[in-house]
Parts: sequence; structure tokens; C-alpha cells
Amino acid sequence: MAWSLRRKYLDLLDREEGWVKKIWGDHMTICLAYPNHYRAGMSNLGFQTIYRIINNHPSFLCERVFLPDPEDEESFSSGSLPLFSLESQKPLREFDVVAFSIPFENDYPNILKMLDMAGIPLTAADRTDADPLIVGGGFSASLNPEPLADFFDLFLLGEGEDLAPEYLEAVKSARTGGLTKRETLYRIQRHVKGAYCPQYYKVEYTQDGLIESFKPLDPTFPEKIKRRKMTGIDHFTTDQCLTTPDTEFGGIFLTEVSRGCGRGCRFCAAGFVGRPPRFRHGEILASSIHRGLAAGQKIGLLGTAVSDMPDLPRVCRSIISQGGKFSIGSLRLDRINKETAALLGQAVAETVALAPEAGSQRLRDVIHKGITEEHIFTAADALLAQGITNIRLYFMVGLPSETAEDVEALIDLVQKIKGHAVKSPAGKRTFRLITVSVNQFIPKAATPFQWCPLEDVNAVRKKMRRIVSALRREKAVKVIHDIPKWNYIQALLSLGDRRVGKILLAAHRHGGNWSQAMKAADEDPDFYVYRRKDLSEILPWDFIDYGVTKSFLMKEYEKASQGAIT
Ligand code: SF4
Repeated sequence: MAWSLRRKYLDLLDREEGWVKKIWGDHMTICLAYPNHYRAGMSNLGFQTIYRIINNHPSFLCERVFLPDPEDEESFSSGSLPLFSLESQKPLREFDVVAFSIPFENDYPNILKMLDMAGIPLTAADRTDADPLIVGGGFSASLNPEPLADFFDLFLLGEGEDLAPEYLEAVKSARTGGLTKRETLYRIQRHVKGAYCPQYYKVEYTQDGLIESFKPLDPTFPEKIKRRKMTGIDHFTTDQCLTTPDTEFGGIFLTEVSRGCGRGCRFCAAGFVGRPPRFRHGEILASSIHRGLAAGQKIGLLGTAVSDMPDLPRVCRSIISQGGKFSIGSLRLDRINKETAALLGQAVAETVALAPEAGSQRLRDVIHKGITEEHIFTAADALLAQGITNIRLYFMVGLPSETAEDVEALIDLVQKIKGHAVKSPAGKRTFRLITVSVNQFIPKAATPFQWCPLEDVNAVRKKMRRIVSALRREKAVKVIHDIPKWNYIQALLSLGDRRVGKILLAAHRHGGNWSQAMKAADEDPDFYVYRRKDLSEILPWDFIDYGVTKSFLMKEYEKASQGAIT
């Protein structure tokens, strides 16, 4: 079995372009881990960017590891075969550092699985100097690392381009100085902005279970840790350095065009922590786009506020003039006009994703979406006129203050859009399908809704059923939705403090059975998930300086309760 697995990894490398293999010698070694399968990890631009940054450093060697495919898990879980890296097939235990890139909370259980498969003790407290340093970064780990605090030696909070070079230099100088692991961590915590070693911070709780204090153990450590971000992104590109057909975006060359967003949708963590919005100019993107087109690929323009990018029409026109195609993840409805729709039509885009998020204007104002029905129909008209045949609509249910009327308004809006599409002269010729994607709203740290509870999953299940049954008879409308049960777990891992780590560990020990884990861990998960937090509370993530103040978020929270726009 070991042989066939090794062969499988070599085959993956054979189909890849851009991977790096350095000689193990004097290099400091980092295994970059993605807590999900190869296909998902290789679609993640942040993961690829860190791979490139580390391997560009002459003193470091970086290899990769992913969660093994389900059929291979057994081989690694038995203990006989330790989890190994893709490039050199070295066991993870032999690396100096294992660095997890963690974009989503749902992947947290996979981190424990992978450490276990690697034969590395799960908790930082159980590891010794002989074990690799376990480091975490990525979007969700930088938003609220606390549920993972027990398992990591160090978190690097913020954008990799800003933080990773400084971290690498700190590790290098610690190695040159012959420091122990503990001394290295101490030095990093003291000198690298954005570094967070949970073991150097003490949390105390009140009798009610609220956080009473969160303090550094050493007065030289910062009380607030800055989530790092680049001041501008227009002097470098962030694009795909590894290509393979074995990814979710096979055939697409990903290039990032923007970060952050100034629109202030009150549920959106990426918008708030990424502020201010930063865009790349067409000139900067030109070489990146050229590389993608030269490889015969479609260009995937990525970012948080792509449609707000001033240079977007010019960039799209340039791709089309070179005979290429492009795709854009999701467009703001109020940015779709005849010109944007025409560009999408020329790029032969068949599906365009739009996000009204809520059905009623009242609820769209509560979440500060900033769009009206007029925007929605104008956008639909413009797209249909350009021969866009499929429209995907994103909605959320369980939003703060949502009522049954809001759910009916969602159904009503979908029916109106569909009726509009069918009646439109252009629509008669070309329109095929509206896919309605309904997800439960999950409160996130660093947003005005961070004090809100998750809506009861049973209530959300009923709302989903209502939407599915009301739209079932609509021809050319398909509804897809997420599973409320998993949303509860995601909310727990998003909103939890470090005590939630006990539940996570119990879930791992019970083979992923969360009901048993919750009973075994002696922690009440509803405390984190279903409780509305008081504005005066210390929240588990208050020690992070995201660049947006808590008082601003509070004002937005209060405005949301009045349905007021900022
Ligand atoms: S427009 Fe999009 S990226 Fe910007 S805040 Fe709203 S949801 Fe987030």
C-alpha cells in the first residue's frame, strides 16, 4: 500500500507545473499543510502564495501536504505509515516547521486528523523540542484562532506577503543563534508583529463563563496583536504559481485583482478586516494575465470586491482582445450595467453569480447590502440581453431580525426574476436556468453581527424546506442549500474561545461524532452558538487589532437593529 500511495503522489507531481524540489541539506524545512484534499488546496491562491514566498527564500525549503483522500486515510491512520510530504515524501515529523494554511473553520477537524496521521502530538503542551513547530495562518485562523489555541505553537495573523518574510528571517536568526524552540517562540512573540503564541497569553473567566481577562504573561508582549496587511497590493501580483488539471479550477489561471471592500455588508468579515479596499492596476496584472493566456487558460479574476475595481473593464477588454476568456466569482448587482454585461457576453460567460442575499428591502437594509430591486432587474435585463443563459443567485436565511415575511419575499423575488427572464425578448431566446443557492447566515468575528446568535438550526431547516417547496414547481429554477446541522459546528468554531478546543479534541477522539463529543467535553456549545452577546463582553478575539475599531462595529450593530444605512 505504501508503494501505491507513493506512486500516486508522484503521479500528482507529474501532472503539475511549477512545483519546487530543493535539496535537503542546510535548508530550514517547512511543510506547508492544507487541511483538506489536494483538489481543494490546489485551488487556493493563498496557499500557493505562501509556497512561493518560502521557496523564494534561499535558506528555506518548502514542501506540501494535504489531507489524504478518503480511501487512503486508513493507511496513514494505522500508525505504520506516517503522513508524508508530496515533493520528497518525507514524514512530517522530520520537518522543522509544519505550517497550516487555514481558510475555513470546517477544516479544523482535519488539522487534528493530519497531526495524528503524522504521529505528532496534538496539543502544544504535549510536544517537545524534537517535534516540529506547528504554525497556523490563513483567513479563518486570523479571524479567531482561539478554538485552535491548544493545538498550535504559533499563529501568524494577517496577509502572508506582509508577515511571512519577517517570520522567516526571525526563524533563520533564531537557528543561527542556536535558540531552542521555546526561546525562538519567545523572540518571535516579542519582535514579530502579527505573531501570536497562545501559550504566552492567559485567559480568565467569570463564574458565568464569560471572559474576565485576556493578558500576556510577559509585559513585553503586546496586549493587542495586529492582524497584518499590505498597505497596497499594486506593486506585486498574487497569482497561480502551480498548475494542475487535478483541481476544482482546472483550466483556469487564478489571479487576484483586489483585497478588502468598503461596502460594509454587515455580515462580511472579508470586507471589514480587509479594509481599506485595495485594487491592482491593469498594467500590474498584464504580465500575470499574459502568463495565464500563454498557457491556454481562462483567467479567473479573484478578489473581494472585483466589480468595484476601477480598471476592471480595461482588464476584461484586454483579455478579450488577446482572444482569451475570463470568469469573475461574484459581481455586485449595482455594478452590472450594459458595459459590464457586454464584456461578460463577449467573454462567453454562460453563468453569472449575483448575490441579493435577502429577499426584502427591509432585510437588505439591515445587512447593509446597498442594493434595490431596481438594481436586481436592471442587472438581470443587461445580462439576459447579452446571452447569459444561467444566473446563480446567492441568498442567506437566518439573518438577524429575519421574519417569515422576509422568507416569503425571497421566494417572491426569485419568482419575479424568473418571470422577468422568461418574458424578456432576449430571455426567450437564451435563458436556461436560475440556480438559487441558499446558505444559513453564520455570525463572524470582526463584523457588526459578531454579537448575534446563530438562528436555531431547526427553524432554519423549516425555512429551507419552505423555499424548496415553494420553488419546486417553477420550471428553470433549481434550489440548492447547505445543511443546517453543519452550520451549528461552523458557528461553534467561528465564535468559540479556547475552551471550544476541548470539544474539537473530543470530536476527533470520537471519530467525528460531534454529538458524543459535546457530551464528553463538558462544555455547553449553545453558550457560544445560540447566545446573544452583550456589548460590554470581552469577546474571544478582542485581542486582535483588525484595523477596524470595536466602537465602529458597535455603531453598525445598533444601526442594523434600526434597519439604518451608513
Ligand atoms: S460587497 Fe461583497 S465583499 Fe464587499 S462587504 Fe459586501 S459581501 Fe463583502
